[in-house]
Amino acid sequence: MSNQAPFVLIVGAGPSGLILALMLGKKGIPVRLLEASECLDDRPRATHYSPPAVYELHRAGLLEDMKAEGGFTPNGVCWRKLNGEVIASIPTRRSEESPSDPMVCLPLNKLKNVLQRQISKLPHVEILYSHKVTGVGQDESKAWVEVDAPGGPQKLEAQYIAGCDGANSQVRRSLFGDMEFPGFTWDEQIVATNTYYPFEKHGFDWDSNFIIDPEHWFMAARISNDGLWRVTYGEVPGLSFKELKARQPTKFKAFLPGHPDPTDYKMVNFSPYKIHQRLAKRMRVGRVLLAADAAHLCNPFGGLGLTGGIVDVGGLSDCLDGIYTARTDDDILDIYDTIRREKYNNIVDPVSTANIRLLFEQDPETASVENEFLKTCKAAEMDPEVGAALGKAANALQYDFRQHYRK
Ligand SMILES: Cc1cc2nc3c(=O)[nH]c(=O)nc-3n(C[C@H](O)[C@H](O)[C@H](O)COP(=O)(O)OP(=O)(O)OC[C@H]3O[C@@H](n4cnc5c(N)ncnc54)[C@H](O)[C@@H]3O)c2cc1C
Repeated sequence: MSNQAPFVLIVGAGPSGLILALMLGKKGIPVRLLEASECLDDRPRATHYSPPAVYELHRAGLLEDMKAEGGFTPNGVCWRKLNGEVIASIPTRRSEESPSDPMVCLPLNKLKNVLQRQISKLPHVEILYSHKVTGVGQDESKAWVEVDAPGGPQKLEAQYIAGCDGANSQVRRSLFGDMEFPGFTWDEQIVATNTYYPFEKHGFDWDSNFIIDPEHWFMAARISNDGLWRVTYGEVPGLSFKELKARQPTKFKAFLPGHPDPTDYKMVNFSPYKIHQRLAKRMRVGRVLLAADAAHLCNPFGGLGLTGGIVDVGGLSDCLDGIYTARTDDDILDIYDTIRREKYNNIVDPVSTANIRLLFEQDPETASVENEFLKTCKAAEMDPEVGAALGKAANALQYDFRQHYRK
Protein backbone atom coordinates (compact mmCIF):
# COMPACT_ATOMS: atom_id res chain seq x y z
CA MET A 1 0.00 0.00 0.00
CA SER A 2 3.04 2.29 0.50
CA ASN A 3 2.58 4.29 -2.74
CA GLN A 4 -1.17 4.74 -2.44
CA ALA A 5 -2.94 7.22 -0.20
CA PRO A 6 -5.10 5.25 2.29
CA PHE A 7 -8.68 6.23 3.08
CA VAL A 8 -7.77 6.93 6.72
CA LEU A 9 -4.45 7.93 8.20
CA ILE A 10 -4.34 7.31 11.95
CA VAL A 11 -1.78 9.20 14.03
CA GLY A 12 -0.62 7.19 17.09
CA ALA A 13 -0.48 3.43 17.63
CA GLY A 14 -1.71 3.53 21.23
CA PRO A 15 -4.73 1.42 22.17
CA SER A 16 -7.23 3.79 20.54
CA GLY A 17 -5.32 4.05 17.24
CA LEU A 18 -4.80 0.29 17.09
CA ILE A 19 -8.46 -0.52 17.82
CA LEU A 20 -9.62 1.99 15.19
CA ALA A 21 -7.19 0.50 12.65
CA LEU A 22 -8.40 -3.02 13.47
CA MET A 23 -12.09 -2.13 13.17
CA LEU A 24 -11.58 -0.32 9.83
CA GLY A 25 -9.15 -2.93 8.52
CA LYS A 26 -11.58 -5.76 9.25
CA LYS A 27 -14.09 -3.96 7.01
CA GLY A 28 -11.53 -3.83 4.19
CA ILE A 29 -10.91 -0.08 4.48
CA PRO A 30 -7.31 0.95 3.66
CA VAL A 31 -5.63 2.40 6.75
CA ARG A 32 -2.12 3.64 7.50
CA LEU A 33 -1.00 4.11 11.11
CA LEU A 34 1.89 6.44 11.96
CA GLU A 35 3.67 5.89 15.28
CA ALA A 36 6.39 8.22 16.59
CA SER A 37 8.14 5.50 18.64
CA GLU A 38 10.21 2.62 17.29
CA CYS A 39 7.77 0.04 18.71
CA LEU A 40 4.51 -0.21 20.64
CA ASP A 41 4.51 1.24 24.16
CA ASP A 42 4.84 -1.68 26.58
CA ARG A 43 4.16 0.17 29.86
CA PRO A 44 1.32 -1.28 31.94
CA ARG A 45 -1.24 1.53 32.12
CA ALA A 46 -5.01 1.10 31.77
CA THR A 47 -6.32 -2.24 33.03
CA HIS A 48 -10.12 -2.15 33.31
CA TYR A 49 -12.61 -1.86 30.46
CA SER A 50 -16.13 -0.84 31.56
CA PRO A 51 -19.27 -2.22 29.85
CA PRO A 52 -19.49 0.32 26.97
CA ALA A 53 -15.85 -0.44 26.08
CA VAL A 54 -16.44 -4.18 26.36
CA TYR A 55 -19.28 -3.82 23.86
CA GLU A 56 -16.85 -2.26 21.36
CA LEU A 57 -14.09 -4.81 22.12
CA HIS A 58 -16.66 -7.51 21.41
CA ARG A 59 -17.62 -5.87 18.09
CA ALA A 60 -13.93 -5.62 17.19
CA GLY A 61 -13.58 -9.40 17.70
CA LEU A 62 -11.06 -9.03 20.52
CA LEU A 63 -12.72 -10.55 23.58
CA GLU A 64 -11.85 -14.21 23.02
CA ASP A 65 -8.18 -13.41 22.40
CA MET A 66 -8.16 -11.09 25.43
CA LYS A 67 -9.39 -13.94 27.62
CA ALA A 68 -6.72 -16.24 26.16
CA GLU A 69 -4.13 -13.57 27.09
CA GLY A 70 -5.33 -13.63 30.75
CA GLY A 71 -8.30 -11.25 30.64
CA PHE A 72 -11.02 -11.92 33.22
CA THR A 73 -14.24 -10.43 34.58
CA PRO A 74 -13.72 -9.04 38.10
CA ASN A 75 -16.26 -10.22 40.69
CA GLY A 76 -17.24 -6.66 41.63
CA VAL A 77 -16.21 -3.46 43.30
CA CYS A 78 -16.41 -2.21 46.88
CA TRP A 79 -15.67 0.89 48.93
CA ARG A 80 -13.91 0.43 52.28
CA LYS A 81 -12.66 2.33 55.28
CA LEU A 82 -8.91 2.31 55.91
CA ASN A 83 -9.42 -0.48 58.49
CA GLY A 84 -10.82 -2.69 55.69
CA GLU A 85 -14.48 -2.46 56.70
CA VAL A 86 -16.72 -2.57 53.60
CA ILE A 87 -19.00 0.49 53.27
CA ALA A 88 -20.81 -0.53 50.06
CA SER A 89 -20.33 -2.98 47.21
CA ILE A 90 -21.59 -3.78 43.71
CA PRO A 91 -21.22 -7.34 42.41
CA THR A 92 -20.59 -7.66 38.68
CA ARG A 93 -23.89 -8.47 36.99
CA ARG A 94 -24.25 -10.22 33.67
CA SER A 95 -26.98 -8.67 31.54
CA GLU A 96 -29.30 -10.96 29.63
CA GLU A 97 -29.58 -8.30 26.91
CA SER A 98 -25.85 -8.04 26.21
CA PRO A 99 -23.81 -10.73 24.45
CA SER A 100 -20.55 -9.43 25.91
CA ASP A 101 -19.11 -9.48 29.42
CA PRO A 102 -20.03 -6.68 31.80
CA MET A 103 -16.44 -5.68 32.63
CA VAL A 104 -13.08 -7.06 31.53
CA CYS A 105 -9.66 -6.62 33.10
CA LEU A 106 -6.45 -7.00 31.10
CA PRO A 107 -3.37 -4.76 31.44
CA LEU A 108 -2.89 -2.55 28.39
CA ASN A 109 0.48 -4.06 27.45
CA LYS A 110 -1.26 -7.44 27.04
CA LEU A 111 -4.17 -5.94 25.07
CA LYS A 112 -1.59 -4.52 22.69
CA ASN A 113 -0.15 -8.02 22.09
CA VAL A 114 -3.60 -9.15 21.01
CA LEU A 115 -4.10 -6.09 18.80
CA GLN A 116 -0.71 -6.46 17.16
CA ARG A 117 -1.36 -10.13 16.32
CA GLN A 118 -4.78 -9.45 14.81
CA ILE A 119 -3.66 -6.38 12.84
CA SER A 120 -0.68 -8.23 11.34
CA LYS A 121 -3.20 -10.46 9.51
CA LEU A 122 -5.00 -7.53 7.82
CA PRO A 123 -3.73 -6.69 4.31
CA HIS A 124 -5.28 -3.20 4.32
CA VAL A 125 -3.55 -1.97 7.48
CA GLU A 126 0.02 -0.71 7.49
CA ILE A 127 1.90 0.51 10.59
CA LEU A 128 4.88 2.84 10.06
CA TYR A 129 7.05 3.18 13.19
CA SER A 130 9.48 6.07 13.86
CA HIS A 131 7.10 8.37 11.94
CA LYS A 132 6.45 11.44 14.08
CA VAL A 133 3.69 13.74 12.87
CA THR A 134 4.65 17.42 13.12
CA GLY A 135 1.75 19.14 11.37
CA VAL A 136 -1.65 18.67 9.72
CA GLY A 137 -3.28 20.29 6.67
CA GLN A 138 -6.32 19.84 4.42
CA ASP A 139 -8.16 21.14 1.38
CA GLU A 140 -11.52 20.26 -0.16
CA SER A 141 -10.45 16.89 -1.56
CA LYS A 142 -7.88 15.49 0.91
CA ALA A 143 -6.01 15.89 4.17
CA TRP A 144 -2.32 15.39 4.93
CA VAL A 145 0.23 15.19 7.71
CA GLU A 146 3.82 16.38 7.79
CA VAL A 147 6.06 13.70 9.23
CA ASP A 148 9.59 13.36 10.61
CA ALA A 149 10.48 9.95 9.14
CA PRO A 150 13.76 7.96 9.17
CA GLY A 151 14.52 8.98 5.55
CA GLY A 152 13.73 12.68 6.19
CA PRO A 153 10.58 14.85 6.22
CA GLN A 154 7.54 13.53 4.36
CA LYS A 155 4.02 14.65 3.52
CA LEU A 156 1.49 11.80 3.63
CA GLU A 157 -2.08 12.11 2.38
CA ALA A 158 -5.44 10.44 3.05
CA GLN A 159 -9.14 11.23 2.81
CA TYR A 160 -9.33 11.57 6.60
CA ILE A 161 -6.84 11.98 9.45
CA ALA A 162 -7.69 10.47 12.86
CA GLY A 163 -5.63 11.94 15.70
CA CYS A 164 -5.22 9.14 18.25
CA ASP A 165 -1.90 10.52 19.46
CA GLY A 166 -2.61 10.77 23.18
CA ALA A 167 -2.72 13.53 25.78
CA ASN A 168 -0.03 15.68 24.11
CA SER A 169 -1.60 15.22 20.67
CA GLN A 170 0.22 17.07 17.90
CA VAL A 171 -2.91 16.78 15.77
CA ARG A 172 -4.94 18.66 18.41
CA ARG A 173 -2.16 21.25 18.83
CA SER A 174 -2.02 21.78 15.06
CA LEU A 175 -5.79 22.40 14.97
CA PHE A 176 -6.21 24.64 18.00
CA GLY A 177 -2.77 25.77 19.21
CA ASP A 178 -0.36 24.37 21.80
CA MET A 179 -2.13 25.62 24.93
CA GLU A 180 -5.75 25.07 23.88
CA PHE A 181 -7.10 22.02 25.76
CA PRO A 182 -9.94 23.36 27.96
CA GLY A 183 -10.27 21.92 31.48
CA PHE A 184 -7.97 21.54 34.44
CA THR A 185 -5.21 19.45 36.01
CA TRP A 186 -5.77 18.09 39.52
CA ASP A 187 -3.38 19.18 42.31
CA GLU A 188 -3.36 15.60 43.58
CA GLN A 189 -0.34 13.46 42.77
CA ILE A 190 -1.18 9.88 41.79
CA VAL A 191 1.18 6.91 41.99
CA ALA A 192 0.27 3.73 40.10
CA THR A 193 2.08 0.52 41.01
CA ASN A 194 1.78 -3.10 39.97
CA THR A 195 2.40 -5.19 43.07
CA TYR A 196 2.29 -8.87 44.03
CA TYR A 197 0.68 -9.05 47.49
CA PRO A 198 -1.82 -11.55 48.97
CA PHE A 199 -4.71 -9.12 49.50
CA GLU A 200 -7.15 -12.07 49.72
CA LYS A 201 -5.45 -13.25 52.92
CA HIS A 202 -6.31 -9.89 54.46
CA GLY A 203 -10.03 -10.10 53.64
CA PHE A 204 -9.96 -8.30 50.30
CA ASP A 205 -12.41 -10.67 48.62
CA TRP A 206 -13.66 -8.10 46.08
CA ASP A 207 -11.47 -7.78 42.97
CA SER A 208 -11.69 -3.95 42.93
CA ASN A 209 -11.45 -1.93 46.14
CA PHE A 210 -11.63 1.83 46.70
CA ILE A 211 -10.43 2.99 50.11
CA ILE A 212 -11.95 6.25 51.38
CA ASP A 213 -9.55 8.20 53.60
CA PRO A 214 -8.48 11.85 53.70
CA GLU A 215 -4.78 10.94 53.89
CA HIS A 216 -4.29 7.35 52.71
CA TRP A 217 -6.92 7.02 49.95
CA PHE A 218 -6.11 4.34 47.43
CA MET A 219 -7.39 1.74 45.00
CA ALA A 220 -6.39 -1.93 44.96
CA ALA A 221 -7.56 -4.05 42.04
CA ARG A 222 -6.59 -7.57 41.04
CA ILE A 223 -5.29 -7.38 37.46
CA SER A 224 -4.17 -10.92 36.73
CA ASN A 225 -4.73 -14.50 37.79
CA ASP A 226 -1.23 -14.86 39.23
CA GLY A 227 -1.58 -12.52 42.22
CA LEU A 228 -0.68 -9.20 40.56
CA TRP A 229 -2.63 -6.17 41.83
CA ARG A 230 -2.76 -2.56 40.67
CA VAL A 231 -2.28 -0.39 43.75
CA THR A 232 -2.86 3.29 42.93
CA TYR A 233 -2.67 5.88 45.68
CA GLY A 234 -2.81 9.61 46.31
CA GLU A 235 0.34 11.45 47.38
CA VAL A 236 1.10 14.98 48.51
CA PRO A 237 1.69 17.30 45.53
CA GLY A 238 5.05 18.78 44.61
CA LEU A 239 7.37 15.81 45.30
CA SER A 240 10.05 14.62 42.87
CA PHE A 241 10.13 11.06 41.47
CA LYS A 242 12.96 10.26 43.92
CA GLU A 243 10.99 11.58 46.92
CA LEU A 244 7.86 9.67 45.90
CA LYS A 245 9.91 6.47 45.50
CA ALA A 246 11.54 6.97 48.92
CA ARG A 247 8.12 7.43 50.62
CA GLN A 248 6.50 4.39 48.98
CA PRO A 249 7.47 1.75 51.62
CA THR A 250 6.16 3.98 54.44
CA LYS A 251 2.93 4.62 52.53
CA PHE A 252 2.36 0.88 51.89
CA LYS A 253 3.09 0.08 55.55
CA ALA A 254 0.52 2.69 56.59
CA PHE A 255 -2.35 1.78 54.27
CA LEU A 256 -2.09 -1.75 52.87
CA PRO A 257 -4.02 -4.36 54.84
CA GLY A 258 -1.59 -6.28 57.08
CA HIS A 259 0.80 -3.25 57.14
CA PRO A 260 3.55 -5.07 55.20
CA ASP A 261 7.30 -4.47 55.06
CA PRO A 262 8.93 -4.36 51.59
CA THR A 263 9.96 -8.02 51.93
CA ASP A 264 6.27 -9.00 52.15
CA TYR A 265 5.41 -7.80 48.63
CA LYS A 266 7.00 -7.57 45.19
CA MET A 267 6.47 -4.29 43.38
CA VAL A 268 7.12 -4.69 39.64
CA ASN A 269 6.09 -1.25 38.40
CA PHE A 270 6.05 2.25 39.91
CA SER A 271 4.61 5.16 37.85
CA PRO A 272 3.77 8.57 39.31
CA TYR A 273 1.40 10.56 37.10
CA LYS A 274 -0.79 13.65 37.12
CA ILE A 275 -4.48 13.52 36.29
CA HIS A 276 -6.61 15.87 34.23
CA GLN A 277 -10.20 16.67 33.21
CA ARG A 278 -10.01 18.19 29.74
CA LEU A 279 -12.04 18.23 26.52
CA ALA A 280 -10.91 19.53 23.12
CA LYS A 281 -12.91 22.39 21.55
CA ARG A 282 -13.98 20.14 18.67
CA MET A 283 -13.47 16.48 17.76
CA ARG A 284 -13.91 17.22 14.04
CA VAL A 285 -12.41 19.98 11.94
CA GLY A 286 -13.14 19.20 8.28
CA ARG A 287 -11.24 16.04 7.39
CA VAL A 288 -9.36 15.89 10.68
CA LEU A 289 -10.80 13.99 13.65
CA LEU A 290 -9.77 13.48 17.26
CA ALA A 291 -10.42 10.48 19.49
CA ALA A 292 -9.57 9.16 22.99
CA ASP A 293 -6.84 10.93 25.05
CA ALA A 294 -6.10 13.29 22.14
CA ALA A 295 -9.66 14.59 22.55
CA HIS A 296 -10.44 14.20 26.26
CA LEU A 297 -8.79 13.25 29.52
CA CYS A 298 -10.31 12.22 32.83
CA ASN A 299 -8.98 10.74 36.03
CA PRO A 300 -9.22 6.95 35.83
CA PHE A 301 -10.89 6.40 39.25
CA GLY A 302 -14.35 6.13 37.70
CA GLY A 303 -13.24 3.33 35.35
CA LEU A 304 -13.79 5.71 32.41
CA GLY A 305 -10.17 6.56 31.43
CA LEU A 306 -9.61 4.49 28.33
CA THR A 307 -13.25 3.37 28.20
CA GLY A 308 -14.30 6.75 26.73
CA GLY A 309 -11.55 6.41 24.13
CA ILE A 310 -12.60 2.94 23.06
CA VAL A 311 -16.22 4.10 22.71
CA ASP A 312 -14.99 7.01 20.54
CA VAL A 313 -13.14 4.79 18.09
CA GLY A 314 -15.97 2.24 17.89
CA GLY A 315 -18.31 5.07 16.84
CA LEU A 316 -15.74 6.69 14.56
CA SER A 317 -15.17 3.40 12.73
CA ASP A 318 -18.92 3.24 11.97
CA CYS A 319 -18.93 6.85 10.72
CA LEU A 320 -15.91 6.31 8.45
CA ASP A 321 -17.23 2.95 7.23
CA GLY A 322 -20.56 4.61 6.35
CA ILE A 323 -18.74 7.30 4.34
CA TYR A 324 -16.41 4.77 2.62
CA THR A 325 -19.34 2.62 1.52
CA ALA A 326 -21.51 5.63 0.58
CA ARG A 327 -24.20 4.76 3.11
CA THR A 328 -23.93 8.26 4.57
CA ASP A 329 -22.29 11.57 3.70
CA ASP A 330 -19.64 13.10 5.87
CA ASP A 331 -22.06 15.25 7.90
CA ILE A 332 -22.15 12.19 10.14
CA LEU A 333 -18.78 13.39 11.45
CA ASP A 334 -20.48 16.51 12.85
CA ILE A 335 -22.81 14.18 14.74
CA TYR A 336 -19.73 12.28 16.00
CA ASP A 337 -18.29 15.60 17.24
CA THR A 338 -21.51 16.67 18.98
CA ILE A 339 -22.43 13.34 20.56
CA ARG A 340 -19.00 12.32 21.83
CA ARG A 341 -18.37 15.75 23.39
CA GLU A 342 -21.86 15.75 24.93
CA LYS A 343 -21.23 12.29 26.44
CA TYR A 344 -17.97 13.56 27.93
CA ASN A 345 -19.70 16.62 29.44
CA ASN A 346 -22.75 14.74 30.73
CA ILE A 347 -21.24 11.43 31.86
CA VAL A 348 -17.46 11.04 31.79
CA ASP A 349 -16.52 14.28 33.51
CA PRO A 350 -19.17 14.33 36.28
CA VAL A 351 -18.92 10.60 37.09
CA SER A 352 -15.13 10.41 37.18
CA THR A 353 -14.86 13.69 39.12
CA ALA A 354 -17.41 12.55 41.73
CA ASN A 355 -15.69 9.17 42.14
CA ILE A 356 -12.25 10.56 42.90
CA ARG A 357 -13.62 13.28 45.22
CA LEU A 358 -15.47 10.58 47.15
CA LEU A 359 -12.14 8.94 48.00
CA PHE A 360 -10.46 11.89 49.70
CA GLU A 361 -13.23 14.39 50.53
CA GLN A 362 -15.88 12.14 52.07
CA ASP A 363 -15.78 11.25 55.78
CA PRO A 364 -15.65 7.40 55.68
CA GLU A 365 -17.75 7.22 58.88
CA THR A 366 -20.72 8.92 57.22
CA ALA A 367 -20.13 7.88 53.59
CA SER A 368 -22.90 5.29 53.35
CA VAL A 369 -25.59 7.70 54.55
CA GLU A 370 -24.36 10.97 53.05
CA ASN A 371 -22.98 10.06 49.64
CA GLU A 372 -25.77 9.71 47.05
CA PHE A 373 -23.86 7.20 44.91
CA LEU A 374 -22.98 4.95 47.86
CA LYS A 375 -26.57 5.22 49.12
CA THR A 376 -27.72 3.84 45.75
CA CYS A 377 -25.14 1.03 46.02
CA LYS A 378 -26.50 0.15 49.47
CA ALA A 379 -30.04 0.14 48.06
CA ALA A 380 -28.87 -2.12 45.23
CA GLU A 381 -27.56 -4.65 47.77
CA MET A 382 -31.18 -5.12 48.93
CA ASP A 383 -33.03 -4.58 45.63
CA PRO A 384 -31.91 -6.34 42.41
CA GLU A 385 -33.91 -3.86 40.30
CA VAL A 386 -31.88 -0.93 41.65
CA GLY A 387 -28.74 -2.97 40.91
CA ALA A 388 -29.84 -3.62 37.32
CA ALA A 389 -30.60 0.10 36.82
CA LEU A 390 -27.14 0.96 38.16
CA GLY A 391 -25.57 -1.44 35.64
CA LYS A 392 -27.55 0.04 32.75
CA ALA A 393 -26.51 3.60 33.68
CA ALA A 394 -22.93 2.78 32.64
CA ASN A 395 -24.12 2.02 29.10
CA ALA A 396 -25.26 5.61 28.59
CA LEU A 397 -21.81 6.33 27.13
CA GLN A 398 -22.66 4.24 24.05
CA TYR A 399 -24.14 5.63 20.85
CA ASP A 400 -24.88 3.82 17.60
CA PHE A 401 -23.95 6.16 14.72
CA ARG A 402 -25.28 3.64 12.18
CA GLN A 403 -28.79 4.96 12.93
CA HIS A 404 -27.76 7.95 10.75
CA TYR A 405 -27.02 5.82 7.67
CA ARG A 406 -29.41 6.35 4.74
CA LYS A 407 -32.48 4.11 5.07
C1 LIG B 1 0.79 5.48 34.60
C2 LIG B 1 -0.59 5.48 33.96
C3 LIG B 1 -1.59 4.69 34.49
C4 LIG B 1 -2.85 4.68 33.91
N1 LIG B 1 -3.81 3.88 34.46
C5 LIG B 1 -5.02 3.86 33.90
C6 LIG B 1 -6.04 3.01 34.40
O1 LIG B 1 -5.85 2.28 35.38
N2 LIG B 1 -7.26 3.01 33.78
C7 LIG B 1 -7.51 3.81 32.67
O2 LIG B 1 -8.62 3.76 32.11
N3 LIG B 1 -6.58 4.62 32.18
C8 LIG B 1 -5.35 4.66 32.75
N4 LIG B 1 -4.39 5.46 32.21
C9 LIG B 1 -4.72 6.21 31.00
C10 LIG B 1 -4.77 5.30 29.78
O3 LIG B 1 -3.61 4.51 29.73
C11 LIG B 1 -5.00 6.17 28.56
O4 LIG B 1 -6.34 6.67 28.62
C12 LIG B 1 -4.81 5.41 27.24
O5 LIG B 1 -3.50 4.91 27.14
C13 LIG B 1 -5.11 6.37 26.08
O6 LIG B 1 -4.91 5.71 24.87
P1 LIG B 1 -4.64 6.53 23.54
O7 LIG B 1 -4.49 5.51 22.47
O8 LIG B 1 -5.66 7.58 23.39
O9 LIG B 1 -3.27 7.32 23.81
P2 LIG B 1 -1.82 6.77 24.18
O10 LIG B 1 -1.88 5.47 24.90
O11 LIG B 1 -1.12 7.91 24.85
O12 LIG B 1 -1.14 6.49 22.76
C14 LIG B 1 -0.78 7.56 21.89
C15 LIG B 1 0.24 7.03 20.89
O13 LIG B 1 0.51 8.08 19.96
C16 LIG B 1 1.92 8.15 19.75
N5 LIG B 1 2.21 9.54 19.36
C17 LIG B 1 2.21 10.64 20.15
N6 LIG B 1 2.51 11.74 19.44
C18 LIG B 1 2.73 11.31 18.16
C19 LIG B 1 3.08 11.99 16.95
N7 LIG B 1 3.28 13.31 16.93
N8 LIG B 1 3.22 11.26 15.82
C20 LIG B 1 3.01 9.91 15.83
N9 LIG B 1 2.69 9.23 16.95
C21 LIG B 1 2.54 9.92 18.11
C22 LIG B 1 2.52 7.76 21.09
O14 LIG B 1 3.87 7.32 20.94
C23 LIG B 1 1.58 6.65 21.52
O15 LIG B 1 1.97 5.39 21.05
C24 LIG B 1 -3.13 5.49 32.78
C25 LIG B 1 -2.12 6.29 32.23
C26 LIG B 1 -0.86 6.30 32.83
C27 LIG B 1 0.23 7.19 32.22
